[in-house]
Amino acid sequence: MRELSRRTSGFTDSVIRRMTRISNEHGAINLSQGFPDFDPPKELLDRLAEVAREGPHQYSVTWGAPNFREALAEKQTRFMGRRIDPEGEIVVTCGSTEAMMVAMMTVINPGDKVIVFSPFYENYGADAMLSGAEPIYVPLHPPDFGFLKEDLEAAFALGPKALVLCNPSNPSGKVFTRDELLFIAKLAEEYDAYVITDEVYEHIVYKPHAHTYFAALPGMWERTISCSSLSKTYSVTGWRVGYVIAPPEITDTARKVHDFLTVGAAAPLQEALVTALRFKDDYYDGLLDTYDRKRRLFLRGLDDAGIQHTDPQGAYYVMADISEFGYDSDLRFCEDLAKKAGIGAVPGSSFFHEDVNHLIRIHFAKSEPVLNAALDKLCKIRDVM
Ligand code: GLN
Repeated sequence: MRELSRRTSGFTDSVIRRMTRISNEHGAINLSQGFPDFDPPKELLDRLAEVAREGPHQYSVTWGAPNFREALAEKQTRFMGRRIDPEGEIVVTCGSTEAMMVAMMTVINPGDKVIVFSPFYENYGADAMLSGAEPIYVPLHPPDFGFLKEDLEAAFALGPKALVLCNPSNPSGKVFTRDELLFIAKLAEEYDAYVITDEVYEHIVYKPHAHTYFAALPGMWERTISCSSLSKTYSVTGWRVGYVIAPPEITDTARKVHDFLTVGAAAPLQEALVTALRFKDDYYDGLLDTYDRKRRLFLRGLDDAGIQHTDPQGAYYVMADISEFGYDSDLRFCEDLAKKAGIGAVPGSSFFHEDVNHLIRIHFAKSEPVLNAALDKLCKIRDVM
């Protein structure tokens, strides 16, 4: 048979999704793939039940149902502090995963360079391969995962077409400060680069840290493609509803890319989610409180277990240090962890461009009894690993 596409020959499967499968095989508590084990808000589920009876059940407008875009524009206008036009500035996608791919396909010509901070969410590697982009990696340094200005300047000097900004960042939990973002903005302007953001954890930022929308920085609207989703904010990761927000000159192309990739996000789910988009501020405060409690419980438990870990400023991931176990492969460590200790985790190497082998990523988007059960197991890992 003839060879399959060269574009995808460098692909591995997603290690995050693979670890979920391995975790399930061993009946482990799955702290690998980041999604909540608790229900979405009841009002949203009640509305979904109504929509199941009443519809819509056929395609929505390909770039998003008008009432969904209106509700989203209203919500994002409130949070971003910039008026978002539901007609011209939104494309509704199948999750932020599609939004990021659409953004890359909209901006990139094969061979264009794209700056990616490392560690990075593994999809960006695949996005780069599919769109033909050449990544330029800029390291983020623990403990607070800041970048060195000279590294970023050197990366921009290579003439990238775009920079990918995951903020709050998966897997490091970094929340970029306004000053760091202004520095990125200055370089983006100087070198005329686009900024593609992934802001799916925009509502999970722990005080005193605060989320700054890159698109809302002075002069950045024209060059920013903001991608996000409703998955994490309303605990509906399986609904696959996300979006691109950008100026009309960009959404004009993004709509076409999206149309030919997927036609549209699920119409009944968009209809139901209008209810969630109209939630008041107390919903977002409650969501943050919930995650903050889980974060404190989980970090305290890791401290009690004597496991060194990062201290996330946002999102719900922790990188834990496994050096003491003496494994030369973090993937093998994670396989053993699922099998022997009953915990699913993601090997850190799947997020780093650099040769990093001593970290694993675990998440705390779990109900408290499950987190406590996971912590009990982690307390005993030295007996089994
Ligand atoms: N963003 C989540 C994670 O990093 C889920 C990824 C996915 O499977 N789409 O684990």
